[in-house]
Amino acid sequence: MTIMPSKKIFILGVNGFIGSSLAWKILNKTDWEIVGMDLSSNKIEHFIEHERFKFFKKNILTDKDWIESQIKECDVIVPLVAIATPTLYVKDPLRVYELDYEANADIVKKCDKYGKRIVFPSTSEVYGMCPDSDFDEYSSPLVLGPIPKERWIYSCIKQMLDRLIWAYGNHGNLKFTLFRPFNFIGPKLDDITAPEEGSSRVLTQFAHNIIHGKPIKLVDGGIQKRSFTFIDDGIECLLKILENKNGCADGKIFNIGNPYMEFSIKELAEMLVELFSEYPEYAERAKNAKMESVSGREYYGEGYQDVPRRMPSIKEAENILGWKPTTDLRTALKLTLDYHLLKKDYELVGISK
Ligand code: UDP
Repeated sequence: MTIMPSKKIFILGVNGFIGSSLAWKILNKTDWEIVGMDLSSNKIEHFIEHERFKFFKKNILTDKDWIESQIKECDVIVPLVAIATPTLYVKDPLRVYELDYEANADIVKKCDKYGKRIVFPSTSEVYGMCPDSDFDEYSSPLVLGPIPKERWIYSCIKQMLDRLIWAYGNHGNLKFTLFRPFNFIGPKLDDITAPEEGSSRVLTQFAHNIIHGKPIKLVDGGIQKRSFTFIDDGIECLLKILENKNGCADGKIFNIGNPYMEFSIKELAEMLVELFSEYPEYAERAKNAKMESVSGREYYGEGYQDVPRRMPSIKEAENILGWKPTTDLRTALKLTLDYHLLKKDYELVGISK
């Protein structure tokens, strides 16, 4: 293990998909301390008593003084509280604005006030319908649809926060790194048992539909493509950003994605059905799984517009951080299904890097 100088990290939204995996990795691979906050703690129960982890049940919208006191105390702030589900951009854009923009802008300002380092989750969604063959952090245009297409509120908010952080970094006291996850997948993404139709991200939705014998809905035929990134690969990259060897990540933007894992949504559905058939208890359901095409408007509503293709350039992360993703889609799906169908957690059985 490389020597990583000790630090105290404040993770807001530590019980989320990224937050819970990040905290676990930090506790296992470094000697850093973590202060974590979230509304609940179901994904972090296995390390909630760790001696270098302090958890607080707090609300980003109401516990502002407490949050400010933690920002003052900690070295690095990772604000992961946000709504990042396309259905909700269309259904509840005002909640997305209040939480994703207002609450987070406030945190950015506090980090600047105390001259702290913020490691902020931008998103691959900021590139929108960018026509580039792969999206580059410093040269690709950010292409959004018209105002009535409410899907873009999230992208627009994140872009504004990126610009705010960039400005505080260059004209204020803030130290920063922006990172952009590209369709991270893995256990604990969304609750696989819960989703009502159209309420979670694609992998969880498809798995839920197979389990419950509902048809898989391919929006506009499922020809749109995504590059899927296994959570453990993404977290490895994030750890290097947090480590920030010789300040290499300061003032930088990093795409975190897997350009070798580009698949259409239809291909994702097919692979998932095939993998389900390998679990004896689910083989019959996999055999009976049906797919049907549905229009984006019908599935999500008028305010929806899709991203036809989302491909990261990861040259920055490769060259500056020395990082490369290594998990293929089949393995990523298998580990996710093992977790949900067999209650086997890759993080606990030692498969994690
Ligand atoms: N999608 C689909 N069927 C579903 C859910 C999603 O075909 O039941 C499509 C969706 O239209 C999008 C892609 O899958 O093109 C990925 O959707 P997701 O919600 O995971 O997030 P996005 O990558 O669009 O941010």
